[in-house]
Amino acid sequence: MKNVTALLRDSMKVKPASKRGARQKTSTPKGVTRLNFNENNYGPAPEVTKLLIDSIGRVNEYQDFFAIDLKQKIADFYGLDKTAEAASETNEFGENSKPEDYVIIGAGSSAVIDMLGEIFINPGDEVVYCMPSYESFPDMVNDYGGKRVEIPLTADYHFDLDGMYEAVTEKTKLVVVVNPNNPTGTYINGAKIEEFIWKVHEKAARLHPDGDQDVVVIVDEAYYEYVDDPTHYSMIEMVQKGYDRPLIVQRTFSKAYGLAGLRIGYAITQPALADAIMKACQAWNYSGPGLLACEAALDYQDYIKKVKALNIENRNYVADELKQLGFEVVPPAANFIFFGIPEDATAEEREKMDPVRVKNELAERKILIGAPNGHNRVSIGTAEECKMFIAAMKEIVR
Ligand code: PMP
Repeated sequence: MKNVTALLRDSMKVKPASKRGARQKTSTPKGVTRLNFNENNYGPAPEVTKLLIDSIGRVNEYQDFFAIDLKQKIADFYGLDKTAEAASETNEFGENSKPEDYVIIGAGSSAVIDMLGEIFINPGDEVVYCMPSYESFPDMVNDYGGKRVEIPLTADYHFDLDGMYEAVTEKTKLVVVVNPNNPTGTYINGAKIEEFIWKVHEKAARLHPDGDQDVVVIVDEAYYEYVDDPTHYSMIEMVQKGYDRPLIVQRTFSKAYGLAGLRIGYAITQPALADAIMKACQAWNYSGPGLLACEAALDYQDYIKKVKALNIENRNYVADELKQLGFEVVPPAANFIFFGIPEDATAEEREKMDPVRVKNELAERKILIGAPNGHNRVSIGTAEECKMFIAAMKEIVR
């Protein structure tokens, strides 16, 4: 077909050929071990699976259009009733905000990311984040004709908060922190992220003394549940405490909760922002069984604790074995490991450890992992899958 480009929205004309369709080939032949999508291969809590099976009898019904029950459940989970009580904010109908007004639901947090682009980005608006990180953010900026302001990660693969702070200008609309980061698996302690958010908003106030514009800070905490540091805390706490500058904290049921295929993610933010963002929500796009299962899943926190403990055990095993095989292993905080060739490797070792070779050799052995950014990224599967992966790695690099 000719001239399709002429039909497109301007930002779609200039958007680089999308990697999305090609990249997201998730269908896998049977008998293959998936360690390439950071899924929870233990699956959801057994009670949630049972509820899903029972709910199949109701798939003829449309789901709750506004997902109020799940929003209320999430609001309860984070104690947002106290936040709503203490706040003077009113919603778009002039009513006092309710706890659920702080919650946005999306068909996966990926859908929330798209909604943010649609709501906030005018052509030319700057969006500051680090790379390499989660690819949906640059995709979202491209979709709406924003300007990508990409700061390299620090030498030890962390988000460079100082570099990002410096990069904020009067044209900055969004600032994105992915914590823990994907694909590197590194995290930054909550206290440092909170300090960064205060600083960014102070700078925004200086850049816009008339108060005519502000900067929206987005913190993607898709892998929060896996972080094993008692001093770490979620930026949801800032919203809970009534922080009143634009802050959006994203979470998902796709990772620790083991429900990626149901496509439910959420974000916590101030009610005025939540109202605005929900304008971009596609009609009827949540799955009914998905909403019910996610509501129930929040009740089984002991299961999430168990998933976290198993992840740490399996992750330690994989990290130790990879180190013994000579790889550089970036300290992991989530349910995957980013590893690569150490600086002092010989030419022969480099050839054997080449990330594309490693990925292809594993695929031959029916184990799928990723090879992003000159490294490999392997998801932490079940204990058995981790053993299979390490056995295959020994064959490949020894
Ligand atoms: N954020 C990050 C950092 C991710 O790695 C992912 C999925 N890989 C997502 C968001 C999106 O997850 P979902 O759409 O399944 O909620």
